[in-house]
Amino acid sequence: MKNCLSFLLSCLVYTSQAQVSSILPSPVTYVQSEGSFQINQALTVNPSEINSSLFTQLKELGTIYHQLRIEPNVQNAMLQFKKLENVKQDSYSINVAERITISYSSDASCYYAMTSLMQLMKRNENGLYTPKCFVKDFPNFQWRGLHLDVARHFFTVEEIKRFIDLMSYYKFNTFHWHLTDDQGWRIEIKKYPKLTEMGAWRDSTVDNHYTTVPRTYTKARYGGFYTQEQIKDVVAYAEAKYVTIVPEIEMPGHARAALAAYPEYSCTGKAQGVEGLWGIFDDIFCSKPASIQFLKDILDEVIPLFPGQYIHIGGDEAPKTRWHSCPKCQDIMKENHLKDEHELQSYFIRQMDAYVTAKGKKIIGWDEILEGGLSPNAAVMSWRGFDGGLEAAKQGHYVVMTPGSHCYFDHYQGKGKDEPLAIGGYTSLEKVFTFNPIPPDLGPEVSSYILGGQANIWTEYIPAFSKVEYMAYPRAIALSEALWCANKPTYDVFLSVLVQDHFPQLDQWKVNYSKSALKASVKTIRTNTGIELKSTEQSIENGKIKETSISFPFTRSKKKTKTETVTIHPEDESIRQTIQITNHLALGANVRFVTEPSPKYNGGDIVLVDGQFGARPWKGHEWIGFDTNVIVLEIDLGKVMKIHEIKVSFLQDENSWIHAPNQIVIESILPKRSDGIGMKEGPSIDGYAPNSEIWNLPYKGKTRTIRITISGEPEIPNGLPSEGNIPWIFIDEIQIN
Ligand SMILES: [Zn+2]
Repeated sequence: MKNCLSFLLSCLVYTSQAQVSSILPSPVTYVQSEGSFQINQALTVNPSEINSSLFTQLKELGTIYHQLRIEPNVQNAMLQFKKLENVKQDSYSINVAERITISYSSDASCYYAMTSLMQLMKRNENGLYTPKCFVKDFPNFQWRGLHLDVARHFFTVEEIKRFIDLMSYYKFNTFHWHLTDDQGWRIEIKKYPKLTEMGAWRDSTVDNHYTTVPRTYTKARYGGFYTQEQIKDVVAYAEAKYVTIVPEIEMPGHARAALAAYPEYSCTGKAQGVEGLWGIFDDIFCSKPASIQFLKDILDEVIPLFPGQYIHIGGDEAPKTRWHSCPKCQDIMKENHLKDEHELQSYFIRQMDAYVTAKGKKIIGWDEILEGGLSPNAAVMSWRGFDGGLEAAKQGHYVVMTPGSHCYFDHYQGKGKDEPLAIGGYTSLEKVFTFNPIPPDLGPEVSSYILGGQANIWTEYIPAFSKVEYMAYPRAIALSEALWCANKPTYDVFLSVLVQDHFPQLDQWKVNYSKSALKASVKTIRTNTGIELKSTEQSIENGKIKETSISFPFTRSKKKTKTETVTIHPEDESIRQTIQITNHLALGANVRFVTEPSPKYNGGDIVLVDGQFGARPWKGHEWIGFDTNVIVLEIDLGKVMKIHEIKVSFLQDENSWIHAPNQIVIESILPKRSDGIGMKEGPSIDGYAPNSEIWNLPYKGKTRTIRITISGEPEIPNGLPSEGNIPWIFIDEIQIN
């Protein structure tokens, strides 16, 4: 009997703990009790219980969330505040009973409690109310960041403030402001006025995706910058919302805008304009003393503007070509016994580190600053995966994890071709949600150096602020969940709270967020007669996720190639998807990989014969990728067919180390007898066309099995990214007519 009772009790406890609040990021503890606390049109507060800045923020939050008035009441306030001592950093609790009590450990945590309280409030016929409940909450990671690149495209002070507003509502505390790059210098430096007079403006900007051939440009002056007064204003604005700004001044690479204004600080001294193309450029700051002094002078003006402890000095993607042929750089290497240009970069960074440290600040840089030895005081932002960050943490440096796989919000967030242009890659809402800055099995002595995580928003393909919001939201909310919650709910629970409670809020704020996470997932399934598209979508009904599927069958074409379009949700642009199916003789045919594709880019052999050509710019999943230079595969048409053409499509993207092949050999295998027993060779062809993306190979005759041998370059030629390594080969699709 006793056992039974304890079982019953534990069930009850379980149901009360499993309650879900409308707060995002999800709080550590939420327990709802019977009844609600009615607020109606105004919430009364005793202003003397909190400082005036917090009182101002509370009034602002009330207005922004609910048009709620905050009114002073010294004697009998509805909302009371209690400061706690000796509790976990930034922890708070909210108790809603006969009145509302916020207990908090720091001003920031009081602000977090106020945002949570606003998110708890709902509306009934009398006005606002909140369910009676208890919330206990604290952050899991201390660095919860968003980055914004204002160099590739410029955003106004008002837009930056809105960006900070939205961050602060989701308990982010770090804004990484990427202020300088090849395409624009965005911060006023009084000692060097040409940085903004010339460096803030470019004459042209590349159109479309930069891999598009032929490249075209819009020839119009583009740019902008922030004065030091504007920077101070933004810094103070962010500080009031408990957001620290980390400014980034890129060095030694991504320096073309600065060098357009002051070419004397490059290795060659050659005058060049501010760059209008995206990518990595050879001209970087020279390592000579005059260039180092120039950057120190700039830091002298940057440091006093930003009260936070970190200054970001970039350090990524700095080609060593110029340093290699520069007599001044080579002399410095000799004098300092540096064995190569990587050590010269390390020497360069160490000088900046010492300078920044002497001014009472710390440097942080992209993980390339690890190459050639890292200066002792430096922190690392790990962007090329987790490994750089792990290595730095093992060496005792603080680390912020921003791996491309989970944290690059310039990637696509939906698989469909209807997504607005992005740089490439695919980082879904769910992928961001699963992010953990600490990889599994990492011991506490190393993981204690991991400060947290951050998403990066590079803006090559984000010309307008509304698109910044589209790329950032709702993925930023999933990231805040990943960084704030020590025990995240399931993705389904998160998604239902997001859609039910937060999408309407974002609508009210007119945030241009993406609904791609609600778009149907479309799978191609092989059938006996061709393929079938199976579209499965999730919707939220009564707080639960409901799944529905529809199928679209396609029968393999016997004669002519034709293209058909499937449109899913033609009525709603935000979740619409259009899929084009090019029907051909091999649609849904069996494919045998004699050479195995890389597991990173292998969505299954059906991808090659699903009637859908790989997207450009590529996302990844829609291409089959090989990290070898000879590929063999076979396609079995199921029976002998008369064919006249084989069309194979490849990807050419040198910056991603993907090269189209040079040669394709097609062999055919015919059954000797009608029952398929015994094989003989059929006609074969041999094509040669270096780096061609689309191959149309004319073929005369009958065949059943086609063997395709694809040969790429043995290694990436000198002067191209990743030179000397084996290039990737990406294929999709193989169309047989
Ligand atoms: Zn040089």
